[in-house]
Amino acid sequence: MDCIRLEGRAYIGGRFVRVKIGGGDCRLVQLSNRYLILPGMVDLHVHFRDWGLSHKETLEGGARAALAGGVVAVGDMPNTSPHIRTAELYRKRVEQGSGLPILYKLHMGVPEKVAELDQARPRSVKIYPEDVARFGWQHVEKLAERCATLRCVLVFHCEDPAYFRNGERPPDAEVACVEKVRQIVHRTGARVHLTHITLPYTAEATRGWASVDATPHHLLLDVDNCKDPALCLVNPRLRTPEIRKRLLAALASGLIDIYATDHAPHTL
Ligand SMILES: [Zn+2]
Repeated sequence: MDCIRLEGRAYIGGRFVRVKIGGGDCRLVQLSNRYLILPGMVDLHVHFRDWGLSHKETLEGGARAALAGGVVAVGDMPNTSPHIRTAELYRKRVEQGSGLPILYKLHMGVPEKVAELDQARPRSVKIYPEDVARFGWQHVEKLAERCATLRCVLVFHCEDPAYFRNGERPPDAEVACVEKVRQIVHRTGARVHLTHITLPYTAEATRGWASVDATPHHLLLDVDNCKDPALCLVNPRLRTPEIRKRLLAALASGLIDIYATDHAPHTL
């Protein structure tokens, strides 16, 4: 028996209330005013790896880690090996995810042919700077047009690769991408979400036409915490303490819609 049922009084939503949760043969836990009950969390940005990368993590391992941390639903990213760009791969991965002990959703990768969206009918499509470099902004706009009809959300890793220089990814890349996406939304009416934003500017500039999320590392760490740059190399990059603190203030003031982890295991 690995289930529990809860009875007694617990602190939920700002006050103590009498609760009775679960039943059957599950082990009884008496609450007696000593427990805080929180809802399960949703993490819309994770990389459960597996396919071609199972030495880093598997779907099953990722799901267990999520549950252990109180996360009951995830949005998994498509940059597996192979990258999930076709309806066939999308369906295969969703099928595997449906057997996990959490609610599993998948962001589809950018397809080479827009018609794949009609086949797959994803709820969201993840666009990387590498996709923009490979297929161009025009292709992204075609996806946006199709998604506006099919009601899928475009999820941007919002950095314009035209601003990448010698391995550097400056804040200007995010600013330029925000403007490109704003124009695409204006022309197509597509719904967009910008994930792991790093600049308070982005939270303010996207009000009214995009939702945004920020990660624990961009909110709590900055370049001053980074003694060994090789061990804190993330995309997008960590920013200065000044930018990082203003991003945290933006979260506190409600300008950032969602907190997401970008859980992504790597080997050294
Ligand atoms: Zn990610």
